[in-house]
Amino acid sequence: MSRGRLTDFIGGAWVQSSATEVHPVANPATGEPLCETPLGAAGEVERAVSAATAAFGSWRAVPALDRARVLFRFKALLDDHKDELARLVTLEHGKTVPESAGEVRRGIENVEHACGIPSLMFGDMLEDVARGIDCESVRQPIGVFAGISPFNFPAMIPLWFWPYAVATGNTFVLKPSEQVPLAQRRITELAAEAGLPAGVLNLVNGGRACAEALCDHPGIAGISFVGSTPVAKAIYARASAAGKRVQALGGAKNHILVMPDADLAMACEIATESVFGCAGQRCLAGSVVVGIGSAYERLADALVRAAKALVIGDGGDARTVMGPLVSARQRERVIAYIDQAITQGAVPLIDGRAVGVPSLPRGHFLGPTIFAEVRDEMTIARDEVFGPVMILRRAADLDEAIAMVRRSEYANACSIVTQSGAAARKFRHEVGVSMLGVNIGVAAPMAFFPFGGHKSSFFGDLKAHGADAIRFFTDAKVVISRW
Ligand code: NAD
Repeated sequence: MSRGRLTDFIGGAWVQSSATEVHPVANPATGEPLCETPLGAAGEVERAVSAATAAFGSWRAVPALDRARVLFRFKALLDDHKDELARLVTLEHGKTVPESAGEVRRGIENVEHACGIPSLMFGDMLEDVARGIDCESVRQPIGVFAGISPFNFPAMIPLWFWPYAVATGNTFVLKPSEQVPLAQRRITELAAEAGLPAGVLNLVNGGRACAEALCDHPGIAGISFVGSTPVAKAIYARASAAGKRVQALGGAKNHILVMPDADLAMACEIATESVFGCAGQRCLAGSVVVGIGSAYERLADALVRAAKALVIGDGGDARTVMGPLVSARQRERVIAYIDQAITQGAVPLIDGRAVGVPSLPRGHFLGPTIFAEVRDEMTIARDEVFGPVMILRRAADLDEAIAMVRRSEYANACSIVTQSGAAARKFRHEVGVSMLGVNIGVAAPMAFFPFGGHKSSFFGDLKAHGADAIRFFTDAKVVISRW
């Protein structure tokens, strides 16, 4: 049943957007209409920034311990509603319920981390920087921050940012992806229920125009963005030109290196889950599996067998291993990449284009595809596909495999499967990628550590999570004094 046209959350109340255009949202497995996202723009942003600005003075005066207490209550509410949130994610995004539950769990971990704000926000002090003169630094909130998030983790990704922003005493305007607005809407209700005062967290619905209005608004101090590389680059340039601090996380082309000493069953399981999990719609998803030396021949058959065994269907069905793509557009985009790869000479070992789910004719399903004979100059070797497509390549040795990874314009995640500590160490030391997995196919985000890539996968300097999040959302003020 459709929830109709969604409202925005501004100044503590759910209000109608003045947008005249909407983005229709439907269940990607069934085609059932879910809601309409209003495509708000400068007017909505203006109202939300006014509310956030008005709330800032009193919120920053709330002691850090009391801000943390609101987050503790919020965390408890998220725990109480985690199953409901996971079902909402599956409904609007299509991934399986266990995958959705996993992302909700990772989102909650960021709230747990932000609950430690009284100690995370500590400053420093040095007595007698000169005789009788002391110097101290404190971390202070800056004002209003904004977040712009992608479609692939509707519940988790906004929680990478706004809990830290409000924990440090800022106020926030969030623009979720117009394709998946429901989970974050529910999370915003829970934040209000936890006692977050009016105006501290605001939610505006919209697409590109709304994102651009956030970048341009002089009342916003900084932007946290996650999405595709071209948009990340544009947001970084636009918001920086408007004088803001920006952290913009972009796309990826992740490699999984399989050493000849690897346990074949483990390598196959790691690669299959990494590439085909969430139907390939993860920024940490493996894309290129590199069989090193004799590993290549052993992998090819095993990977095709594992791919053929994947059960495709509605993410809400407990038997499903791989759900649909998020939209018809995304499915067509992936099919176009497969068509082009074949034209350019890549050889499909298994081709998912004709695979559907007969009982769900309106679902955006695609079967797994595995390509061999891929060369550097082919588009499929370079571009982010963001769908269930695996590229199987060979390398003579680890040096050649690392060189292949280093040629990529992206540097988000990379994994190695091996039983050799020396190979793992060499990999860690030499591969120019930010998030690494050793015998792990998805280098999952951990709230306590920094998260983000480099090269075309990240624009900015302070990453998400960890100590960087506290630095991003605060100004380091230094006071030197003599009494
Ligand atoms: P997207 O770039 O299309 O959209 C992201 C957000 O930007 C959305 O809120 C959208 O409304 C807005 N937007 C879209 N076009 C815009 C434009 N021209 N100007 C301003 N704003 C615009 O990304 P998506 O398709 O929603 O998400 C998938 C992408 O996100 C993939 O490339 C994936 O790798 C990336 N991603 C990266 C990470 C990471 O941690 N690096 C995590 C998740 C997803």
